[in-house]
Amino acid sequence: MTLTIGVDVGGTKVAAGVVDDRGRILEKVRRPTPSTSPHETARVIAEVVELLKSRFGEVEAVGLGAAGFVDESRATVLFAPNLAWRDEPIKKKVEGEVGLPVVVENDANAIAWGEAKFGAGRGEDHMILVALGTGIGGGLILNGELYRGRFGIGAEFGHYRVVPDGRRCGCGNRGCWEQYASGNALVAEAREIARVSPALAGRLLELGDGRPEGISGPEITEAAREGDSAALECFRTIARWVGQGLADLAAILDPGAFVIGGGLSEAGDLLLGPTREAFENALTGRGHRAFADIRIAELGPDAGIVGAADLARSR
Ligand SMILES: [Zn+2]
Repeated sequence: MTLTIGVDVGGTKVAAGVVDDRGRILEKVRRPTPSTSPHETARVIAEVVELLKSRFGEVEAVGLGAAGFVDESRATVLFAPNLAWRDEPIKKKVEGEVGLPVVVENDANAIAWGEAKFGAGRGEDHMILVALGTGIGGGLILNGELYRGRFGIGAEFGHYRVVPDGRRCGCGNRGCWEQYASGNALVAEAREIARVSPALAGRLLELGDGRPEGISGPEITEAAREGDSAALECFRTIARWVGQGLADLAAILDPGAFVIGGGLSEAGDLLLGPTREAFENALTGRGHRAFADIRIAELGPDAGIVGAADLARSR
């Protein structure tokens, strides 16, 4: 049995685990990300790897899943919106410190690989991961392989434009899908209802301590589970955008399954039901083709660690 280490480097935390060849995490550690300093971030990554290595001597490689654009040689983070990394040669830096081979991968790609191999996408050669969180992360498994594109930065679905001149996006463009279909979009929708029509949003406001800004994802999910009509309306609105976006992706890529991950996926059927409906209503050629399955991810917040570790194994 070979062991590898997977590291998930996000805007707020660095989570790392020792993973075996069946995708099981044997031990896990986490640290806050010193996100303003590239040098400090590399040092924290080296520190968690050293710690895990000292407990499991036979570790053979390290996979880093980073929230950013990773170049095609899987060595450099070109750009990370939530980290200080700009053309950061992270592979070289970490390899120099820990003395193990390092593979760098986009975090959503690592999640897609983890879900395809050990989670909700098992046995599916054509799978699309859509992670609905702060933004939208994407990963493509085509013909059983992770598709990266020519320059390593494919599958950034969150930034395909769904509304001309629409809402401004952190990427600098307007009208990107993630402005309408992410966890953040759900929260924005609920706060807007609470501001504009407080009488309709009584339960949401109550859960948010009386203020629109107090309403976040868990409150909306809780209210929706109770049957609150304003919260359910928020889910229907977001799910319509999600489902239509999936139909557009299916028009291009014709996958067997979509795996929905990220914080918003914790809402389960509240999200899946209206998403499937919107997908089936929007899919081109409906009635004359099979519908791709739409499933919730299975590996939860550990998917990035498991996927990055496995990509390091098969490097
Ligand atoms: Zn964008």
